[in-house]
Amino acid sequence: MKTTFVATNAYQQKEAAAIKQFNDLLAANQSISLKKNNKHIFKERDKKPNLDLRHFNHVISIDSDKNIASVEGMTSFYDLVAATLPLNLMPQAVPELRSITVGGAVAGLGGQSSSFKFGLIHEMVTEFDLLTGEGKVIHCSPQSNADIFYMLPNSYGSLGYILKCKIKLNKVLPYVKLQYIRFSTAVEFFNAMAAAVKASTVDFIEGVSFAPNEYILLLGDFKPTLPVGETNLIPLQFPFFKSIRDANVSEKHLTIKDYIWRWDPDAFWATDQKNVIGSVLLNPLFRKTFGPTILRSDRLIKLGKLRNRLRKKGDARLIFLESKRKEALIQDAAIPFAAAAEFDTWLAKELNIFPLWYCPVKTTKPLGTYPLYNPESEFVLDFGFYISMELENDMEDYHYNKQIEQKLLEYHGLKCLYSDTFFSESQFWSIYNKSKYDQVKTKYDPNNTFLNLFDKVINKP
Ligand SMILES: Cc1cc2nc3c(=O)[nH]c(=O)nc-3n(C[C@H](O)[C@H](O)[C@H](O)COP(=O)(O)OP(=O)(O)OC[C@H]3O[C@@H](n4cnc5c(N)ncnc54)[C@H](O)[C@@H]3O)c2cc1C
Repeated sequence: MKTTFVATNAYQQKEAAAIKQFNDLLAANQSISLKKNNKHIFKERDKKPNLDLRHFNHVISIDSDKNIASVEGMTSFYDLVAATLPLNLMPQAVPELRSITVGGAVAGLGGQSSSFKFGLIHEMVTEFDLLTGEGKVIHCSPQSNADIFYMLPNSYGSLGYILKCKIKLNKVLPYVKLQYIRFSTAVEFFNAMAAAVKASTVDFIEGVSFAPNEYILLLGDFKPTLPVGETNLIPLQFPFFKSIRDANVSEKHLTIKDYIWRWDPDAFWATDQKNVIGSVLLNPLFRKTFGPTILRSDRLIKLGKLRNRLRKKGDARLIFLESKRKEALIQDAAIPFAAAAEFDTWLAKELNIFPLWYCPVKTTKPLGTYPLYNPESEFVLDFGFYISMELENDMEDYHYNKQIEQKLLEYHGLKCLYSDTFFSESQFWSIYNKSKYDQVKTKYDPNNTFLNLFDKVINKP
C-alpha cells in the first residue's frame, strides 16, 4: 500500500520555485550557501546563508509493500520516523540526533546501531533529485548520472543539494530488548563485539566505554511485547547514559521510538556536566517538567555551540564554571575493524579520552563504490567523540583533535568532515580521491558555484 502525503503537482511547483530562487541568486552574482534551522556542522562560516530550501521538509510518500519512503531532502529523521512508525516501519538506520536531515546525512554521512547490517545512510538511499551548481535538477541513481550519485556521499553540499530521495525501510516490532554486557578490558570488549557482528543474530549493536576498565556492549533485539511486570526505560525521564552505567542492570526494554531516540534527550552525555547547568538538566523534576521542550539534541547542540563561541572569547570559564581552558572534541572516525582495539588502546593510554561511543559499520556495496567514503575493509568501527577535553597550559589549541587526526593516517581511518579538520591539502586529497572528485565537480558544477570540498571542510588558520 502506498500512503501519499505530498501531491506530485504541489511538489513540482515547489521545485520550480526553488530553481527560480537559485537562478536569481546566481544572476545577482551571489555565492550560494544553504539556510538551515539546525546544523550539525561544527564550523563557523563567514558566508551568510541565502538559499532557502527549508520547506523541502516533508515525507512525500511511503510504500509499505516495497518498504520505501520518498522524502524531501531537508526532512529530519525525527519527522521521517514519526511518519513510518505508525506503519510499523523505520529507515534501515536512523542517526541518533533528531534534527539530522536525510539529505544532510547523505552529503555528510550518518549511521547507527543497525549499520553493522545495513551500512551508512547513503547506502540505503536508492535515488535522488539533485539541484546542481548550474541551477538544474537532475535525477541520480545507479542507472542515471551514476557518477554523481556515487560521489555525493561525503561531498558536503559541494556538488549540489538533494531536493528529494528514496530511502529503504525495514519492518519493526513495538519494543527493543537491550542487553548491557560489561567488560573490564578493551580486548574482551572488542572480541565480543566482533563476535556479535560476525554472528549477526541481533538487530542492533553498539558499545560505550566510560573508563579503562568500563566497557559496555549493547545488543538490541526487536520484541513484540513488554514482559509482564517489567517497566520500559524512558530516556527523557532517566538519562540513557546513566542507565547503562548502572552495574546492577543487565537488560532493559524500550519502546521502538524511545530506542531510536535513546541518545537524543542528553545528546549522548552532553548533560553530564559538573556545573549548575548539568545539575539542572539531570534533575528528575526538571526533566519531568521541562524535558520535552529543553532536552532535545538540537537545543543542547545550540548550547554547546554558544559555549564554544564563549570559549574563544575567554568567557566560558565564568558562565560554565570551567576551571581550565577546554577544547571541544566532536568527531566521528571510522577505523578498519581489525585495528580498532589497537587504536582504542592508544586513545586510552596517550590521551585518556572517555567516554567513547563505538558503532560497527558494514560497507554493503563493493569497496571503492563511493569515492569520497572509501574504507579499506568491509567492516569499520565508528569511534564517536562527543566531549570537551581540558587543555594544559603548554598545549596548543585543538591539541586533541590534531593528535587524533594524525593518528588516523597511520590506521587508514576515515574521519567525518563535519567538525574541525586540519589536514594539509596533500594529506586530504591522498584520502579523498581528488581525480575522481575533480572530474565530477567539473562536469556538474563547471562554474564553481559551490565551494570545493577541501575549501569547505578544512579549518582556516
Ligand atoms: C555532535 C554530532 C554528533 C553526530 N552524531 C552522529 C550520530 O550519532 N550518528 C550519525 O549518523 N551521524 C552523526 N553525526 C554526523 C551527521 O550525520 C552529519 O554531520 C550530517 O551531515 C548532518 O546532517 P544535517 O542534516 O544536520 O546537515 P547540516 O549539518 O546542515 O549540513 C551538513 C553538510 O551537508 C550539506 N547538506 C545539508 N543538506 C543537504 C542536502 N539536502 N543535499 C546536499 N547537501 C546537504 C551542507 O551543505 C553541509 O555541508 C553527528 C554530527 C555531530 C556534529
